[in-house]
Amino acid sequence: MLPSPERYAEMLDGAGAGGYAFPAINVTSSQTLNAAMRGFAEADSDGIVQITVGGARYLGGDALAGARALAALGHELAGRYGVAIALHTDHCPPEHVDEFLRPLLAASRERVTRGEPPLFHSHMFDGSTLPLDENLRVSAELLAQCRELGLLLEIECGVVGGEEDGITGGGDPERLYTTPDDLLRVAEALGTGERGRYLLAATFGNVHGFTVKGQVELRPQILADGQRALERVRPGARFDYVFHGSSGSSPEELRAAVANGVVKVNLDSEAQYAFTRGAAEHLSAHYESGGKQAYDPRAWGAAAEAGMAARVAAACEQLGSAGRSIMRS
Ligand SMILES: [Zn+2]
Repeated sequence: MLPSPERYAEMLDGAGAGGYAFPAINVTSSQTLNAAMRGFAEADSDGIVQITVGGARYLGGDALAGARALAALGHELAGRYGVAIALHTDHCPPEHVDEFLRPLLAASRERVTRGEPPLFHSHMFDGSTLPLDENLRVSAELLAQCRELGLLLEIECGVVGGEEDGITGGGDPERLYTTPDDLLRVAEALGTGERGRYLLAATFGNVHGFTVKGQVELRPQILADGQRALERVRPGARFDYVFHGSSGSSPEELRAAVANGVVKVNLDSEAQYAFTRGAAEHLSAHYESGGKQAYDPRAWGAAAEAGMAARVAAACEQLGSAGRSIMRS
């Protein structure tokens, strides 16, 4: 089911206090949405499904229509599953805020005014291409709007390397590592919850796509340093971190990140691989001899969805969210 805004906050509180994290699975279609939801249910885990601007454009032909359509599918279908599934939009760069993020906030505002739940549970604004001051100025303005609607905002501080959805993280390797000073500037500009809750994609050497071992060094210590710096200026406050680009990370790296306050771990490349591999295996097995039934998109689709659902369930086990759905309590 879709959690209420209060239950979504409870999910994240539970992860922060319990030392686990939720997989956030990128989806681009009803098939991948169903696969993600099924994976969460199989693991008895709550979770997050998300769509990028490009994913939404693929789904709907137009990004805004696609995002609204994904939300509509989620509102219709999530009730079939006994776990809490939150709807999120992933990376929205500054140039798409006016045509994507703001209209989605307006749609949620209309719904909330009618007494309905908002369209999405949270949105990401990715201002990492802007100077930090400007990034935080826009983030603060969007956070205020999200707060009014009971939504959470995800922001990015630092630059995630690699490529996702046509967005490439810049060339300077040091920019892949944020600093405690920058994290404190985030807390100064956005508060620590009193001005609205936000999720923080703080970068610590993470890269979108399959990380090639040895090419990039993850430094989860940066996350710990940020928490310590925050504790000094705001005792009791904690950052809710997001880990982007988890594909290819080792179990130890994931554990270290979660131990330092990561509550949301984005999983895209590995889920895409699991989905496509399921389809490829089915289609190559039936390439010559396949009858009409083997080529029915429902046949290869079922194989693809089963593969992706299994990968999502495995992510829940690995991140510790399996067996802990708040819908049981
Ligand atoms: Zn990302």
